[in-house]
Amino acid sequence: MKDSRYPKDWKAIALLKKQSVNWTCQNCGRYCYTKEVADALGLDRSDRKRYELSVHHSDYNPENNSPENLIALCSGCHLGKHSRKRGNVTPGDLSENLQPSHSKPSPHFLEIPKSI
Ligand SMILES: [Zn+2]
Ligand SMILES: [Zn+2]
Repeated sequence: MKDSRYPKDWKAIALLKKQSVNWTCQNCGRYCYTKEVADALGLDRSDRKRYELSVHHSDYNPENNSPENLIALCSGCHLGKHSRKRGNVTPGDLSENLQPSHSKPSPHFLEIPKSI
């Protein structure tokens, strides 16, 4: 299930991006939680998903990690970006840090939040 187009240090790149936008969605302005905050608040899986910040590639090319190509999006906005390009959502793009320990990582991990 690996997407080899992602660079080895993608997680570090994504983390830097999230920190640079102060964990706020660049599309709707929603403030998202870090894993540490989500843990501290005891959020369940669906809440974590709702407040998860992802780093999206504006041109849908994970090899292009130039700062202009990266945009931090909450899961709702991120799903919106990909709904027009089905099949291009990858686990590395969407779910770093938030794999629940009791379930296996899978490309079907992402679920559309019911409240959106
Ligand atoms: Zn958003
Ligand atoms: Zn994306």
